[in-house]
Amino acid sequence: MKVLLPDDSTLELPDGATGLDAAQAIGPRLADEAILVRQNGRVQDLRQPLEPGQRIQILTTRDRQDPDALAVLRHSSAHLLAEAVRRLYPGVKIAIGPPIENGFYYDFEFPAPIGEEALERIEAEIERELDEGRSWTREEVSRDEARARLLAENEPYKVELVDEADGPITFYTQGDFTDLCRGPHLQDSRPIKALKLTSLAGAYWRGDEHNRQLTRIYGTAFYTQEDLDTYLERLEEARRRDHRRLGTQLDLFHLSEHAPGMPFWHPKGMVIWNALEDLRRRENIRRGYVEVKTPLMYDVDTWKTSGHWEKFRDEMFLLPYGEDRQLGLKPMNCPGHMLLFANDLRSYRDLPLRYAESSTLHRNERAGALHGLLRVQHVTQDDAHIFCSREQIEDEIFGCLDFAAFLYDLFSVEARFELSTRPDNKLGTDEEWDFTEAALRTALERRGLAYDLNPGDGAFYGPKIDLHMTDVLGRSWQMGTIQLDSQMPQRFGLRYTGSDNEEHTPYVVHRALFGSLERFIGILIEHYGGAFPVWLAPVQVRVVPVGESHREAARGVRDRLAEAGVRTEVDERDETVSKRIRDAEVEKIPYVVVYGDRESEERLAVRERGGTQSTQNLESLIGDLAAKL
Ligand SMILES: [Zn+2]
Ligand SMILES: [Zn+2]
Repeated sequence: MKVLLPDDSTLELPDGATGLDAAQAIGPRLADEAILVRQNGRVQDLRQPLEPGQRIQILTTRDRQDPDALAVLRHSSAHLLAEAVRRLYPGVKIAIGPPIENGFYYDFEFPAPIGEEALERIEAEIERELDEGRSWTREEVSRDEARARLLAENEPYKVELVDEADGPITFYTQGDFTDLCRGPHLQDSRPIKALKLTSLAGAYWRGDEHNRQLTRIYGTAFYTQEDLDTYLERLEEARRRDHRRLGTQLDLFHLSEHAPGMPFWHPKGMVIWNALEDLRRRENIRRGYVEVKTPLMYDVDTWKTSGHWEKFRDEMFLLPYGEDRQLGLKPMNCPGHMLLFANDLRSYRDLPLRYAESSTLHRNERAGALHGLLRVQHVTQDDAHIFCSREQIEDEIFGCLDFAAFLYDLFSVEARFELSTRPDNKLGTDEEWDFTEAALRTALERRGLAYDLNPGDGAFYGPKIDLHMTDVLGRSWQMGTIQLDSQMPQRFGLRYTGSDNEEHTPYVVHRALFGSLERFIGILIEHYGGAFPVWLAPVQVRVVPVGESHREAARGVRDRLAEAGVRTEVDERDETVSKRIRDAEVEKIPYVVVYGDRESEERLAVRERGGTQSTQNLESLIGDLAAKL
């Protein structure tokens, strides 16, 4: 048989040849370094036969950053982990152990609970395996044999997996450890140059809380020590910036079981919240939006009309009402805005009509899905619905994109736009979709924005543009969305009289640019590492009087700054000056003014976050700050 190589040359192989055979035919060095074969865009184990006529690529240890290459390394590492745990903890039962985005894990049922300190011992055992060296063998077995072997080994989780598996059943063996596994795996353990167990967590078997809770051991592995070091540094930086940690340290918010997934905002957190709200209001007015306020709860019929009952019911909080009615807390603002539009006779002269509302929404999430401010049940969107005619769509989308680009620029985050087009279950004709997709594309190009195309991922009612941002740690976040909708206005029977005196149904653009305020603030905390730009900082200046006799003068400085609109505090605690300065640094306050015998309003000692020190008079400090507000 023949296969094609990346340089378009053809390789002749005997029928049934494997990826490893192909590598050997090319050269012994390649065969030695080979880890995977990519065929037809997907990867497979080197030990599996190739399909004739396919284009193949052999991945080697030099592809150390390739996601598939990392996945196979980490999957094999997970098997080494299971081997070590089996040896150290007789009677342990093993469940599953896949590679994940930044590493791998394996789930175990331990005979007795283990603590974090066990990780070191297990890691040492894996090191020993690596020193000895392991190589993997692959075998296909019948379902009955697989079942019998796993029953004999007393591995109930694996038996369950065999019972549900489709396709051929394979086992991989290294050392004296055999695992039910689809693969692929490395040839041997030599490429695993750096491995670390990172943490321990509880995990329900199959993610179902009705099942037994297992112990999950997380780890990661790389092709070089340098790659592991870089990863650990980045992890440490992410931990330092974790918004939950900084939320406490900076006294911004907290979460509590009294109200799961619904943040309590502290005064300093509210300063940030209100700064974003002010920004949203100011820009909305400038861009021709009008603010509205619609109810938090609607009867079930409204949700049936909107389609949420069918698509979103599981995520809604429901409340009994009267004898036989039920109200649903809104997970989205759309139905309220539709009803508001329908409340009056509308003409083409009213369009575009841009309703803005940043109301509290509630979404019933699984407890396990909640995560700090990033996944909450109490969501505040900077929401708006734009009612417009067909001819106005492109301009309205352009306006939303311009607004989004303005916001992201303000926070110095890199924005990425993704256009999603008609899905399989679309409503409406292809001609209609041709038109709406073109309108979105044209708006993107007119605004000069590069975008990725995501074919087939639009909503069933229309195409959409999703907004993603990349933070300083290089992580990508889905933020806002701009969605065109021709269906909901029809379901609510919305009409306006056109210039032709005929009745028309308006289009609606649903758009949220921050996305949710909770999530946006969570991401901003991490993006800035808590060191907010001056205009967002909860406390902008802290005045530190050196002694008791300087307190009066320090308060005078505070009052002058406060008059100029600067958020200022005086730290009058009986602590040393250096301790109070250090605390201001920990709280990441942009300016600290020290006031002692040598200082006066003509001569202030000003320390800026980041270390710059200067002597300034109060007027010039106010001038500096005013430029940053
Ligand atoms: Zn496996
Ligand atoms: Zn909406």
